[in-house]
Amino acid sequence: MPRKRHPNGELEAVLRQAEVKDWTITGGGDKYFKMKCPCPKKCMKTVHLSPSGANYLRNLLGQLRRATCWED
Ligand SMILES: [Zn+2]
Repeated sequence: MPRKRHPNGELEAVLRQAEVKDWTITGGGDKYFKMKCPCPKKCMKTVHLSPSGANYLRNLLGQLRRATCWED
């Protein structure tokens, strides 16, 4: 089943970037998506469907860089 799209274009772009990195995207039906990293540490990050503010995208990317093996 194809995954649901994020209604926010910039956050949808992050999900697509994650998919390119072989992360698994689940959810999207209720309040948030879950992004799971393929590495042995199984890094995980949630992406809310309703971003809490203008800094949400920047904060999300910051957390990904700090707390997971995300690389740009
Ligand atoms: Zn990882």
